[in-house]
Amino acid sequence: MARVEDIGQQDNWRCWLCDDSVDPAMSVNDDRGPSVDARMTDRKAKKKGKGKSKGSTDLHERLAHRGCNTGKGNIEAVVIWNEQLFTIDPVAIIPTVDRLAAKGGREIFCRCPTAADADTTAAWLIDRISRLEPGLTLSSDIQEGGGQYLVALRA
Ligand SMILES: [Zn+2]
Repeated sequence: MARVEDIGQQDNWRCWLCDDSVDPAMSVNDDRGPSVDARMTDRKAKKKGKGKSKGSTDLHERLAHRGCNTGKGNIEAVVIWNEQLFTIDPVAIIPTVDRLAAKGGREIFCRCPTAADADTTAAWLIDRISRLEPGLTLSSDIQEGGGQYLVALRA
């Protein structure tokens, strides 16, 4: 249990996948109970300056609900977009954030029908990613084009 306690404190007892709180007192056999999930990133590839290559992935341990844990069924980790947001063509959040963390620069996350939707969406993304990838500082970069608003983030 010591390991779950450590990872739980590191992640403030919040599930890295669904962003809900995890009860440390709940049984580890319960689907809402705590578990340690493995998260792979390509971060080390950049340090070597060689881009993606085999064996260059970085393994992080993150807190997840037992039911959300991707290790059990080898399901690919997916961060769910907030259903309240009006987004068009939203990208897969985890690989996009991994690219930002590894290479920096600017990544497009979605388009929005109005400027207000774009602002709300960018604020949600920055808040969500601050827990998904602590240590990555992002700023929003919203551009109007073709009657829509392109929501991008810059590392
Ligand atoms: Zn969860």
